[in-house]
Amino acid sequence: MFMPQRLLSDPDSQGHFGKFGGRFVPETLMPTLLELENFYEKLRFDKIFWEEAYRYLVEYANRPSPLYFASKISKELDCIVYLKREDLNHTGSHKINNVLIQALLAKKMGKKRLIAETGAGQHGVATATAAALFGLECEIFMGAKDVARQALNVFRMELLGACVHSVTSGSQTLKDAMNDAIKYWVTNHEDTFYLIGTVAGPHPYPKMVRDFQSVIGYETREQILKAQGVLPDFVIACIGGGSNAAGIFSHFINDDTICIGVEAGGLGISSGRCGASLQCGTPGILHGQLSYYMQSDEGQIQEAHSLSAGLDYPGIGPEHAYWFEKGIVKYDYVTDKEALDAFCWLSKSEGIIPALESSHAVAYLKKNIDKIRNKIVVVSLSGRGDKDVAQVQEILGKQGA
Ligand SMILES: *Cc1c(COP(=O)(O)O)cnc(C)c1O
Repeated sequence: MFMPQRLLSDPDSQGHFGKFGGRFVPETLMPTLLELENFYEKLRFDKIFWEEAYRYLVEYANRPSPLYFASKISKELDCIVYLKREDLNHTGSHKINNVLIQALLAKKMGKKRLIAETGAGQHGVATATAAALFGLECEIFMGAKDVARQALNVFRMELLGACVHSVTSGSQTLKDAMNDAIKYWVTNHEDTFYLIGTVAGPHPYPKMVRDFQSVIGYETREQILKAQGVLPDFVIACIGGGSNAAGIFSHFINDDTICIGVEAGGLGISSGRCGASLQCGTPGILHGQLSYYMQSDEGQIQEAHSLSAGLDYPGIGPEHAYWFEKGIVKYDYVTDKEALDAFCWLSKSEGIIPALESSHAVAYLKKNIDKIRNKIVVVSLSGRGDKDVAQVQEILGKQGA
């Protein structure tokens, strides 16, 4: 039965992964974070809670997701590639795993409302979905620029019963939405649950979200052992904040398997227009945690640039920062162009249109063909690409012109 497991890199009681993580929030939020931490610690290894949680994942979200042997690209690359099909989950990505379990937790804590910030709207849609399922109110904070760019996702959230707040402060994007969500939480923490979308934010969120997404690694491990009789040589996942990666890696990092996190290289990491926090960022504090962030020399957080909206988190989760510094996980990046090629390549070769985010992990295969020859590789296919088809059509149209 699925249940989280302890890792060597579990944070200390203050939420530190080495020097990263922590709990940098206004003093008034400390009791709320401690309440959440204590509540979660009691359930972390509670069999009855996990039976209930996994039942939602099965009956509502369509788990377990298949581990698919991608024979055509395997043949082309001369290796053995499996795709972990998170794209087949309800709402089309791994995000549903985390929001369902956090919403269940909120319900059990007696909270009546979920709040979340969202960049392109994907986490907002996932949160609104979970709120509808559990009969909770839902308030989503979104930068005014993003509201204008992502009208369809705003409408989706409204259809699902959520109220979308357009945030007009600062650069009117994700980091400003984050600040407003936290401000709202300060005033309404008694009855409000802050639902964070990736392995980031103040303790205990990074650990909690990793635990929830570890269902991906739990299933993958069983599935690959059944299919191949051995563990894979490589597990590859794309990284925005790092939740699908942390979830799948968590069941492999204690073994000989090499885990590789692929960040968004945007227009190239020396272009100044990228989303690769570990390659181009420096340690700093945002969103209640110490981690790597894209920031100017003056410490101003910079907007992450990537073709894929879901990789727009300006930093990375603190556990990844720790794994990076300790060399426990390898990190690399691929550019917009390489991701776009991989989007088309996987569609043609396997009949699977991947999300642009996931295309970064797929692109890593082609870029490292010599490294993976004759090896067994698992790729976390974090989401499906239907949402990205119009955008890709536009880009290819311009290139053709
Ligand atoms: C949001 C998203 C990501 C990035 O989030 P992580 O927390 O890094 O996993 C990746 N892929 C898809 C399909 C997404 O929607």
